[in-house]
Amino acid sequence: MSFEYDLFVIGAGSGGVRAARMAATEGAKVAVAEKQALGGTCVNVGCVPKKLFVYGSHIKDEIEAAAGFGWDIGKATFNWHTLRDNKTKEIERLNGIYGNLLSNAGVELVVGEARVISPHEVQVEGVVYSAKNILVATGSTPYIPSFPGSEYAIDSNHFFYMEELPQKAIVVGGGYIAVEFAGILNGLGVDTHLVYRGPLFLRGFDQDVREFVRDELIKKGIHLHFDTNIDSIVKDNDGTYTADFGGGALTADMILYATGRRPLIDNLGLVDVGVDLNQDSSIKVDDFYQTSVPSIYAIGDVIGRMQLTPVALAEGMAIVDNLVRGIKRTVDYSNIATAVFCQPNIGTVGLTAEEAENQFPDDITLFTSEFKHLKHTLSGLDERTYMKLVVQTSTDKVLGAHMVGAEAGEIIQGLAIALKCGATKAHFDSTIGIHPTAAEEFVTMRTPVIG
Ligand code: NDP
Repeated sequence: MSFEYDLFVIGAGSGGVRAARMAATEGAKVAVAEKQALGGTCVNVGCVPKKLFVYGSHIKDEIEAAAGFGWDIGKATFNWHTLRDNKTKEIERLNGIYGNLLSNAGVELVVGEARVISPHEVQVEGVVYSAKNILVATGSTPYIPSFPGSEYAIDSNHFFYMEELPQKAIVVGGGYIAVEFAGILNGLGVDTHLVYRGPLFLRGFDQDVREFVRDELIKKGIHLHFDTNIDSIVKDNDGTYTADFGGGALTADMILYATGRRPLIDNLGLVDVGVDLNQDSSIKVDDFYQTSVPSIYAIGDVIGRMQLTPVALAEGMAIVDNLVRGIKRTVDYSNIATAVFCQPNIGTVGLTAEEAENQFPDDITLFTSEFKHLKHTLSGLDERTYMKLVVQTSTDKVLGAHMVGAEAGEIIQGLAIALKCGATKAHFDSTIGIHPTAAEEFVTMRTPVIG
């Protein structure tokens, strides 16, 4: 049977674009369908604009720090429209770059909403395209639970295009997005309240890291409301919103829900052609990203594994190896470093102390360091830095590295390579530090706190 395309990709986000252009570069005939802006969540309403906003909000700290270094910069003012619109201009530039990447690689872009109508056919805007293999890389979208007044809540997608910056905001959730966006709002001068249903946010992160971040965010002025669930939201006559907790209430100009993301499979027709889903509606795939329909594959957020851009990119590369280069392989999901761009940042790789203790009971040694960054000896800012190494006692292998502090993401990226190489604590100890940096603490921690 002959097909128009070797590979038809649905979704031009991080994973889809990577798979499409690398497959085309290897000689495959490839098309990619997209109904919105090129680049997907990461470029348009995720990692990239978020990080630009984080930079923008962090400038408040730099302004506060300036006087200690002799700078008198007068009264600083902030203009939300300038930040928002400059961000949007940059995103539009990136959309163009994504278009060029695809066309330079020889990938055909099909604009419109795609629907899988058979194991080898996709329909877009009434036109049917046939392909040997179909790759679903449609990503995910923010999820807001349904409750009385939930229609008044906004999600992270809307946040990036807000007409006005609120004076007071409530952010609901305790994951990456809630903590990052609370930091952005607070840094931009908004009276920020973070509401989380459990006793401590950032579930799954190292316990000491979670507690340290809690204390740092409180110092920055973010109001934390733990063990708190919003029962309802009402719109007030003056245009504000009141969230009722059952026993308490908070009024704000904006209520942002960051309560997770759900896989984007709406109207794709996958179930009709026999693609099995997981319980959370993500697409069920095997180790090689193949669904229950052999010619249909899926990668990225839509398969519900790790919702991280670099993971989607890695899965895209694995798909190209599997389908085009004839190398059957999966992605190694161990020791994937991540950062939460709250202020100060969290950087983390490998096992938390709790995970390590579960896996290797009574065989764990912990090293920690907490200190005031050299910069803050003059800045006047009351910000501290925290670092932790989790080591298996019997093998001396470093199982986890965690940091809360300036540029933690940048620092932990390097340590992720060391952990991938199986570095031992002795390797860390024999590494000579770069002085004076915060990162050098990772190679000078000598006294175990536990073990
Ligand atoms: P997360 O899954 O990280 O966190 C969701 C949060 O919402 C949790 O604290 C969860 O609580 C809470 N929650 C879930 N349902 C409800 C509910 N019904 N009512 C109240 N609270 C609820 O999702 P995010 O939206 O923060 O981010 C989605 C994903 O995007 C992340 O997992 C991450 O993979 C990715 N991401 C990565 C970033 C990065 O790398 N820097 C940045 C942003 C996003 P509980 O803990 O109790 O379940």
